[in-house]
Amino acid sequence: MLDIKLAPATEHKAKPDESKLGFGIYYTDNMFIVDHTEGIGWHDARIVPYAPIALDPAAMVLHYAMESFEGMKAYRTPNGDIQLFRPDKNAERMINTNRRMCLPSLPVEDFVQAVKALVSVEKDWVPHQPGTSLYIRPFVIATEPHLGVRTSKTHQFIIICSPVGAYYSTGINPVKIFVEDEYTRACPGGTGFTKCGGNYAASLISQVKAHELGYEQTLWLDSQEHKYVEEVGSMNCFFKIDGTVYTAPTVGTVLPGVTRMSCIDLLKKWGIPVSEDRLPIADVMQASKDGKLEEVFGTGTAAVISPVGELRYEGDVAYINNGEIGEISHKLYDTLTGIQWGIIEDDMGWTVKVD
Ligand SMILES: *Cc1c(COP(=O)(O)O)cnc(C)c1O
Repeated sequence: MLDIKLAPATEHKAKPDESKLGFGIYYTDNMFIVDHTEGIGWHDARIVPYAPIALDPAAMVLHYAMESFEGMKAYRTPNGDIQLFRPDKNAERMINTNRRMCLPSLPVEDFVQAVKALVSVEKDWVPHQPGTSLYIRPFVIATEPHLGVRTSKTHQFIIICSPVGAYYSTGINPVKIFVEDEYTRACPGGTGFTKCGGNYAASLISQVKAHELGYEQTLWLDSQEHKYVEEVGSMNCFFKIDGTVYTAPTVGTVLPGVTRMSCIDLLKKWGIPVSEDRLPIADVMQASKDGKLEEVFGTGTAAVISPVGELRYEGDVAYINNGEIGEISHKLYDTLTGIQWGIIEDDMGWTVKVD
């Protein structure tokens, strides 16, 4: 248990128009901070007004990308309650990330306690309109001023919150995906399974390239053979081919998404065959030619389910389901969002109330 000192803002910012929230534009009144010092551990947990943080210009995070993050949401249910979705899974994933990055971790219970404490203070910031939510961004940074490359002796774990809009305010429009066959995102033994900032910095070049070619996101292939599908941008990726749903195994190069895990649980519950074997991109393109590529979709906290309407791989283009959301994608979307916003009963035990 953390001993959290409550010193929140006494003045409140004006709340933004809920129909124009977008993603990651507005921030709430307060943030959570806890310090970590080698030899002492975590200390001085506090909820304080949201404000710029002072860092020494030599702080190690600024030079060697010694940082990690998480992404999760708080949802407002029809009766006004606030709930989280599987927050323990984010806490566990952050521990795995931090182990790889030589960063200190909060125990699962303390992570969840900190998230709940901040969301509880920021309750009024959880938006009301359908599809809106409060995005929660926990992160760890190495704060010690030191230019030698080694682990840091001081760190901070911080949580900020941002009210975000309905992802599909204009209906679910399938995305166009460019299959990246030059750059790679993650290699065996690397950091692909972690949410560390460097992964995203290194992936931007492919996003820029995809945009230049008229595509919205990149589908990454494995780094060794450029043969197997891995994931899309910041989403895991699923392919329904001839009745079976395929998604890449989370063996180190793929981020183990909480949404991915939840989709697999639901598909299995519904009796739909799921395969986590490696899937060659050539098989996906061939399935399209044979009329067997039934659905393709990305999964992640931001969009929940993001249908893919078009895949471009080298000279070939696959058009999926006439640019419409597929049956399974739709059912997963309705079920997950129903549970998250408290519209349908959570018979999976995935939601956690915030008092
Ligand atoms: C965060 C993320 C995901 C999705 O994870 P969720 O827990 O479902 O939000 C997938 N891939 C990458 C690379 C990510 O950063």
